[in-house]
Amino acid sequence: MNNFYNQKSFTDLNDPQKEAVKTLEGPLLVLSGAGTGKTRVLTARLANLLYSGATNPWNVLAVTFTNKAAKEMKLRLETLIGPSANSVWLGTFHSIAAKILRQNAEIVGLTSNYTIITPDDQVRLLKQIMVDENIDIKKFTPKAMSGVIGSWKDKGYKPENVDNINNDFFANGKAVNIYIIYQSRLKTLNSADFGDLLMHNLTIFQHNPDILNSYHNKILYFLVDEYQDTNTTQYLWLRLLAEKSKNICCVGDDDQSIYGWRGAQVGNILRFEKDYPSAKIIKLEENYRSTGKILSAANSVISNNKERLGKELRTSAADGEKIELIAVWDGIEEARRIGYEIENLSNVGIRHDQMAVLVRAGHQTRYFEERFIEIGIPYKVVGAKFYERLEIRDALAYLRVIQQPNDDLALERIINIPKRGIGPSTTNMIHRYARKNEISFFSATEVLLSTDEFRPNVKKTLQNLINQFYHWTKEEKVISQTELAMKVFEESGYIEYWQNDKSIDSEGRLENIKELINAMSGFENLAGFLEHISLVMDGDTEAEAGEVSLMTLHAAKGLEFDAVFLPGWEEGLFPSQRSIDELGLIGLEEERRLAYVGITRARKKLFISYTANRQIHGLWQGSIPSRFISELPKEDLNENIEGNLGAAASSHRQFEFNQISNQNNNYGPGFIRAKKNKISTLNHYNSSKRDNQNKIKSSFATQFKLSQRVFHQKFGMGTIISVDGDKLDIAFDKAGEKRVISSYIKLSE
Ligand code: ATP
Ligand code: MG
Repeated sequence: MNNFYNQKSFTDLNDPQKEAVKTLEGPLLVLSGAGTGKTRVLTARLANLLYSGATNPWNVLAVTFTNKAAKEMKLRLETLIGPSANSVWLGTFHSIAAKILRQNAEIVGLTSNYTIITPDDQVRLLKQIMVDENIDIKKFTPKAMSGVIGSWKDKGYKPENVDNINNDFFANGKAVNIYIIYQSRLKTLNSADFGDLLMHNLTIFQHNPDILNSYHNKILYFLVDEYQDTNTTQYLWLRLLAEKSKNICCVGDDDQSIYGWRGAQVGNILRFEKDYPSAKIIKLEENYRSTGKILSAANSVISNNKERLGKELRTSAADGEKIELIAVWDGIEEARRIGYEIENLSNVGIRHDQMAVLVRAGHQTRYFEERFIEIGIPYKVVGAKFYERLEIRDALAYLRVIQQPNDDLALERIINIPKRGIGPSTTNMIHRYARKNEISFFSATEVLLSTDEFRPNVKKTLQNLINQFYHWTKEEKVISQTELAMKVFEESGYIEYWQNDKSIDSEGRLENIKELINAMSGFENLAGFLEHISLVMDGDTEAEAGEVSLMTLHAAKGLEFDAVFLPGWEEGLFPSQRSIDELGLIGLEEERRLAYVGITRARKKLFISYTANRQIHGLWQGSIPSRFISELPKEDLNENIEGNLGAAASSHRQFEFNQISNQNNNYGPGFIRAKKNKISTLNHYNSSKRDNQNKIKSSFATQFKLSQRVFHQKFGMGTIISVDGDKLDIAFDKAGEKRVISSYIKLSE
């Protein structure tokens, strides 16, 4: 008889972990801090379910936060139970929902070969709609509109559920209308955006009890990792699917909820007991990942959050080495110092793939890339969006049209790439015709080709292109997708286009196209490949053996490394000013959870660094250390001050942010904005103390005069209305009157 309980992967567990792995029936919540073995328990429990014969692999659904995590779980499971691991339904919310939608697409007016549109296509489509609807797209950008629609979808709002309060703030109350048009355009295009995948699932389940019932019969066990980051739609989706069997096991950590900005509701995890009154709750307290000092730093920072259940991590591991706190002059110095530390670690035997640099903002990686290339440290930017590169999107657009000729956005993208002499007047004409007759761009082109609407040379070119698509579509049925891709990129002239391109990156682009073709080979067919790439979200590419990982804190969730570097711990950058401006205390607490996530990725060595000056959008700014630094336990820190930064660093340490944050017990965005003025004044005071050293800043000591036109990176263009020393009152064109420090202002050309 199979007995999982004799296996090492079970006997190695501690008691509460074992308890979780043994609890196979009913609702179960494992609510625990970082590194306590939640993911490990989830995988072992899944293995136990199958090993014990409690159920079949095809009756289990396991949800992970990224495709990469799904892959890892599958691998771990395979070593435990062998190839039957492959029959488990294991993936992200999006990938699972995409499959369910394919099986039932007709119900929501799509067909099973629908396309999942990328965020940039979404913005392009919205732009078209908003221009048609006479919305001022400078004021209300299509990108912002896509954010608004996305956040409604995260909350499970269809247009009819959006109330006035949610609608009025954007595009003068026209947002819902745009949402309605957008949805109907998506239907015409036989497309769904990311948010739609789950929304359509909900519609299907809610209106078709028989379909829901068929899934109830199929999926008997649910396992969900990183439950704290589910949004309302995902929550509703899970609740509907699991309402019958109630065999649902969720693991998560309220302190690691870092996707509030994407609609995650930490409340979902707290509500578990209410939703499932018979739920068993298991808490794991022992951390197996990090040293004592790293844990004490994590505990100390997160204890400043008020909105939390409150749990302490403990470890039986040794205290380990102190945390290195490094102050440097600027971003270049920071990259240099981190490069040096990486070399040192490497010399004492820590492998490159056991090191990671985790940044708050994507733009920070540039300094590290430059430095690592210079000194030959192998690295990988994890989550660099391969599929979002220009040449990859072009190449994919060709394949998308072959797969689905109704994919207007794809056809419009490549209709004149490589250049074929088809300009905007031609595409506009096709567009108008398509819109008027409610047909696709492809069909409109076909119809217009049978008339004399086009000029003769345009007609000839378009006819050729359409013929090529007919030809490739036929080919698709008889040759493999990789052969097809090679043929398409050659015959369309796309490869030649980059071969003739003289810019330095053209060779790299050709390499990328080759890599794309390689990537296709692992899939059953073109449709399978296209679905996969639409679902591969950020954070999914992995560092290979021997490479240092460079990634955002968000992408690092669930991962662990021997040595972790956390650069850029400066106010404004981390915590991000934008989060605080938009969400007040809630935003600040989410930033702090991000700090907690970052710290708890480290097993043995942790480095935190900050600069005295940071160049943001081409402007040098004096920076002050993150308030999170003052929340680290002093006794666990080893302070490193680079060069002549001694005075600056000690003034940094005196800066008491707590004074400000402690007053902010119930602040909303408005309050925060008011406080921010105070912060920037303090910020200036603080930085002016070290002005003697700050040579860079002095280059900005321009004389400002009344009525001058100036530019501020956040508030935009404005006119100076009063000058008070280095403080300027400026009437900004869009943001109204504000008092700002002159060093943040550029004279307008
Ligand atoms: P996170 O919150 O960061 O996602 P987690 O709670 O999911 O963390 P895991 O990644 O499952 O934690 O485990 C953290 C590390 O601790 C892993 O290296 C895992 O193998 C190890 N670990 C977990 N439980 C035990 C145990 N009982 N004995 C030894 N090592 C363990
Ligand atoms: Mg985990």
